[in-house]
Amino acid sequence: MSKKFNQKYPLIWEKNNFYIKIYCSIPNIATGIIVTTDNATFIVDPGDGILRDLNKDYNAKEILAISDIFISHGHHDHVGGVWSLLTYLSVMKKKTPLNIYYPKGCLEIESIYKAFHSVYANELKYKITLKPIKNSRAFLKKEVKIKPFKVNHREPADDGFSSIEVPSLGFKFEHNSSSICYGGDTAYCDNLVKMAAGSDLAIIEAGAETNEESDLHLTIEQASEIGKTANEYFLVHVPE
Ligand SMILES: [Zn+2]
Ligand SMILES: [Zn+2]
Repeated sequence: MSKKFNQKYPLIWEKNNFYIKIYCSIPNIATGIIVTTDNATFIVDPGDGILRDLNKDYNAKEILAISDIFISHGHHDHVGGVWSLLTYLSVMKKKTPLNIYYPKGCLEIESIYKAFHSVYANELKYKITLKPIKNSRAFLKKEVKIKPFKVNHREPADDGFSSIEVPSLGFKFEHNSSSICYGGDTAYCDNLVKMAAGSDLAIIEAGAETNEESDLHLTIEQASEIGKTANEYFLVHVPE
């Protein structure tokens, strides 16, 4: 029997001027996350609805400050808002550069960007740089340390019983000696276990449809076990 887990969005967490708001994370529907500090504005997994959600909390000037987008993987519930976000920033006359970080091999992001560029290149006033992530090397953006890590996400194959690996990442963000670990979508994965442990906040998906272990997502039990190794945790991406 599948267990219902009632999660009320948005989920908000803050420590030492390090703030995260998860507007939504529902499998096959949408995810949408903002991470901010005093001088950083990042978006993580802009799924469908991200503009509506951002506009409830922020004015246009604040939204124009988005400097970096982090994509865990190319499934539509994690990238469905990229086109509208890029277009909105153009219409609002963003001038500062924007980087999009994503797992190397993520066709969806490269295709969205290519199509976007072919339509809007002439009127675009801000520079978009695609940053495919090939390894787990940490880097610094606006005084936030970002450590990407490979996770273990798959999608069902056409044959109906096997599955195919999806290029997918989790991200650990650190600022003012506080840390947030976001695992993206993943089945059980040693990297996630390692990165979540000791984090101030762990955001762990529990997207498995049943309590059976799957190679696509974590069960609530697996996700809770990983979450408990952090100081605090949210279970997200729970089927509704
Ligand atoms: Zn998903
Ligand atoms: Zn997925």
